[in-house]
Amino acid sequence: MTDDDWPYETTFYGDDDAQDLYAPAIDQTPAPAPDPAQVRAALQETFGFSGFRGVQDQVVERVLNGHSTLAVMPTGAGKSLTYQLPAVLLEGTCVVVSPLIALMHDQLRSARANGIRAATLTSADADWRETLDAFRAGQLDLLYIAPERASQPAFRDLLASSRIALFAIDEAHCVSEWGHDFRPDYRLLRPLLDAFPHVPRLALTATADHHTRQDILAQLGIAEDGLIVAGFDRPNIRYAIRPRDSIARQLKGVIDENPGPGIIYAPTRARVEQLAETLAAQTGRRVLPYHAGLAPEVRARNQAAFVASEDMVMVATVAFGMGIDKPDVRFVAHAGIPKSIEGYYQETGRAGRDGDPSVAVMFWGADDFARARMRLAEVDEARQQSERQRLEALARLIETADCRRAVLLRHFGESPPARCGNCDTCLEPVDVIDATTLARKLLSAVYRTGQTYGLGHLEKVLMGVTDERVLQRGHDQLSVFGILREEEKPILKALARALQARGSLVPTEHGGLALGGDARDILKGEAAVMIVRPPKKERARRGRSADQTPNPVGDPLFDALRELRRDLARDQGVPPYVIFHDATLREMASARPATLAELGSITGVGTRKLDAYGEEFLHVLQQF
Ligand code: ADP
Ligand code: ZN
Repeated sequence: MTDDDWPYETTFYGDDDAQDLYAPAIDQTPAPAPDPAQVRAALQETFGFSGFRGVQDQVVERVLNGHSTLAVMPTGAGKSLTYQLPAVLLEGTCVVVSPLIALMHDQLRSARANGIRAATLTSADADWRETLDAFRAGQLDLLYIAPERASQPAFRDLLASSRIALFAIDEAHCVSEWGHDFRPDYRLLRPLLDAFPHVPRLALTATADHHTRQDILAQLGIAEDGLIVAGFDRPNIRYAIRPRDSIARQLKGVIDENPGPGIIYAPTRARVEQLAETLAAQTGRRVLPYHAGLAPEVRARNQAAFVASEDMVMVATVAFGMGIDKPDVRFVAHAGIPKSIEGYYQETGRAGRDGDPSVAVMFWGADDFARARMRLAEVDEARQQSERQRLEALARLIETADCRRAVLLRHFGESPPARCGNCDTCLEPVDVIDATTLARKLLSAVYRTGQTYGLGHLEKVLMGVTDERVLQRGHDQLSVFGILREEEKPILKALARALQARGSLVPTEHGGLALGGDARDILKGEAAVMIVRPPKKERARRGRSADQTPNPVGDPLFDALRELRRDLARDQGVPPYVIFHDATLREMASARPATLAELGSITGVGTRKLDAYGEEFLHVLQQF
């Protein structure tokens, strides 16, 4: 069905449904909250979870007691449970507002796999009549809709015809102009919410700074004390940031070390295509491209292949990722710098939603910063300042010798421990060296040669190389000629990179380097330059893959369980993780349940899945 014949806005009810408009209003006053024992039982029965995680219980308790709430929880913290569980427990339907159809369908599949009565009402759904009937009959726990539908008067009338348990507003930062992804349609939700004053509202988001949170509360009419914030930390993600030398080889290394699914972000379409081709040839893995220049059907096909896969690599521009809920992405690599720390956090956050160990590796070069600064110049005055600050914050994260996680979390206003033990600088502590003297030599060479030459030429002048160009320009006569000391040579490149990241050196139009930022302070001896000592050579990073991929691939039992999962997924046309997550299969392989009851106590095995797949998994387990 296309948007054109979508009957919803115009003749929403159809003639034979007209009497519904005059149906008596439904009593929407909330019933008393279920007691804690009931809540735990439903958690186990429906989801197969033995307890809540993090702030989930606080959020669920508020919602069950009818209190509107804004939950800010990082990706993977389990936001969907905080409305799906109340949806199961409370009488009536939980209406979920979600910005993307793909996201809704993903949620729908997972909810239904757990036996939750769920439906989506979007322009892509042919079964809308059944959905409306089920809703009116009070037979839906969850109804997913897009914000533009939610704001229609006819839809408000529809909702009034049955009992509403809860409004859940997913990706709630879309309501705020402060947020990074403002969607005007979200502003239209308020009248709908206000039409049901007794129905609690639960707004959910993974990324919202202080401003955005306050704005969401105000826009959606949620009291200040309804704000619940979980930490931003993603402890299962291991962060690493390295200088880029030969990117294809570096990426191949990441792929080889991480057998699970992964995403590689590249800055341009051309780069995406090229890397996808090279890596497919060199790694033996399935590698596909994704960018906005591909035909929609190709994009959809590649995305579907990725979602369904247990080992595919997607090379993509940042166009890829939003709306993809794949829980078992094992690595995210950046082939160039992201736009900001916020972007970095969001993109790396697509790794390891299932809580299993995952890696985020960024490869950066000085030219990334050169390009970013060039783009800055094109931005209008008003935004330049804040964009420049974003870039500087990113440069600090990249140049730091401190814990990456600590820098990241402090950026989001948290006070993390000084060391996390799970990032590159914690695992392989780096030296910080005072490179102020060398920086003054380099900057001075830039200045004295007229701020037009690139690093290659500057290096020659500093090292005292007398090639034709040096002689021709008389650069052998300069005071900076040949002043580089032997031990300074190996760090010159790293220093130049650091100065470019910091903005003390900026690119000229013709590929040369000019003074910028605090260069004059450095030259005058008023600012110091500390840099991270460059690694001798990209050390071989072996011996770590074992704990990065906890799946006992190669263990015949685990492999057999995965095979069964693959078969079931294929039969049902869903991605394997909808059947069971890796962690569930791992627990099965190590606990080796022998009965249905024992199998039912494995995390992630709820009643519905036990009924649907229990016998078959037991059968496999019995053979080992
Ligand atoms: P988010 O939407 O916040 O990114 P999800 O709702 O997708 O997170 O949940 C992330 C993962 O955590 C899912 O695999 C989900 O099954 C799992 N999960 C959620 N709550 C729990 C819990 N209480 N115990 C165990 N696993 C959970
Ligand atoms: Zn750390």
